[in-house]
Amino acid sequence: MIQRTISQITKMIKAENDVSQFADTMINGVCIDTRKLQPGNLFIPFKGQNVDGHKYVEDAIKNGASGAFWQKDVPNPPSHLPIIVVENTETALQELARNYRSELTIKVVGVTGSNGKTTTKDIITAVLSEKYAVQKTEGNFNNHLGLPITILSLNEETDVAVLEMGMSARGEIEFLTKMAKPDIAIITNIGEAHLQDLGSREGIAEAKLEITKGLSKDGLFIYIGDEPLLKDREQLYKNFRVKTFGKAKSNDVFPTYIEKEDNGSKFSINIAPDKNFFLPVLGEYNVLNALAGIIAALELDLSMEEIESGLKSLKLSSMRMELHSGINGTKVINDAYNASPTSMKAAIHMLENLDQDARKIVVLGDMLELGENEIQFHKEVGSTINQDKIHYVFTYGDLGKHIAESALEKFTPERVFNFSDKQDLIHSLKSVIKGNEWILVKGSRGMKLEEVVKSLIDN
Ligand code: ATP
Ligand code: MG
Repeated sequence: MIQRTISQITKMIKAENDVSQFADTMINGVCIDTRKLQPGNLFIPFKGQNVDGHKYVEDAIKNGASGAFWQKDVPNPPSHLPIIVVENTETALQELARNYRSELTIKVVGVTGSNGKTTTKDIITAVLSEKYAVQKTEGNFNNHLGLPITILSLNEETDVAVLEMGMSARGEIEFLTKMAKPDIAIITNIGEAHLQDLGSREGIAEAKLEITKGLSKDGLFIYIGDEPLLKDREQLYKNFRVKTFGKAKSNDVFPTYIEKEDNGSKFSINIAPDKNFFLPVLGEYNVLNALAGIIAALELDLSMEEIESGLKSLKLSSMRMELHSGINGTKVINDAYNASPTSMKAAIHMLENLDQDARKIVVLGDMLELGENEIQFHKEVGSTINQDKIHYVFTYGDLGKHIAESALEKFTPERVFNFSDKQDLIHSLKSVIKGNEWILVKGSRGMKLEEVVKSLIDN
């Protein structure tokens, strides 16, 4: 984490109040939530709509913070305390992160995309850890606050930082990438998330491509070459090097085979046809995420052996394709972390192709934030479910209902259920389980479908 004196920090953000009394006080890391305060932190209060963080400043310092920011327009700054007065605390946090990043000699890998950012970040971290000291974005700290906080948590001894960048509107990725200044920038895929704000898939592609605006001059841009919206813009990729991954043989790196196993995938790649990699997570798209990781690892001089061993050791962040043993011998796949049309279809397709002898059940919740065509997106998901491969379709929520409705065009009614109450769903789901089923549980974060997973595991 950042370790600087108050006077150094004041200079980094060009603050003007007199801190001479505390000039040499050491700051160790930053904190925006007093419940997570660590000794020596710089506490950064925000003037929120409901709560003004400034009222916690005194307490934070009493409880071990070495200093705090204070926004100029908030009255009565406690002048006896080590505070740095700033125009705006959020902007000051970002400015501090930007400058700290410039001072670091760490290599940065930046990851964006509609789906698979966190997964790809976790894969890259697992692989690079074979050779380097690696730090990564914790959880989903990928926005205008999460990214600066992550950057300020980096240690100077760290070799590589793997940073996730998320967005919901134009300009956001540009802002983040210029702060993170990646040496390697990755776009995992272009989906439909945030269509509401960006209008079209072209709009989404352009917004994701902003990641290249912060890429260092001799940096490497890695993207999914199967996506025409990225591939067709190749003439724009002039100021940096480019490598593509994907299923198509036109990519720099593509899989020569993918073999599904119960707990992951075996695969090989065109540039190392004799090596058999094992990725201990389900889903073909995760193999593609791994290809992005392999290219990044090669760029950072890892050997194929190190890559192979790193992939094997991967453990994903929770609720992403997490495989559990459930009641009555069922296998439960917890993918309840999030959902968009692309990831929903990919996950269903993956389930369809698993263990041909088992019965398959999907439990699908609303996909949120899809904009005006949300109903259409849910219907499309419903119509892609294969009635010969999936036994039961359970849906949950007002939008989930439309998945069920369109599934009913092919499925017989006793195999499709929609619920507005989660407990009713759980009850009914349990009543159809015989054992030997594979159950996929997936929906947007807000739907909290992990509660369904829990009920299938606990009893
Ligand atoms: P968020 O925007 O919530 O941070 P994310 O981009 O970090 O999402 P992950 O958390 O890695 O994405 O994965 C979310 C879900 O997307 C996974 O559970 C999986 O179902 C699906 N997914 C992951 N990678 C891909 C991919 N390359 N293509 C399509 N779907 C994917
Ligand atoms: Mg994420």
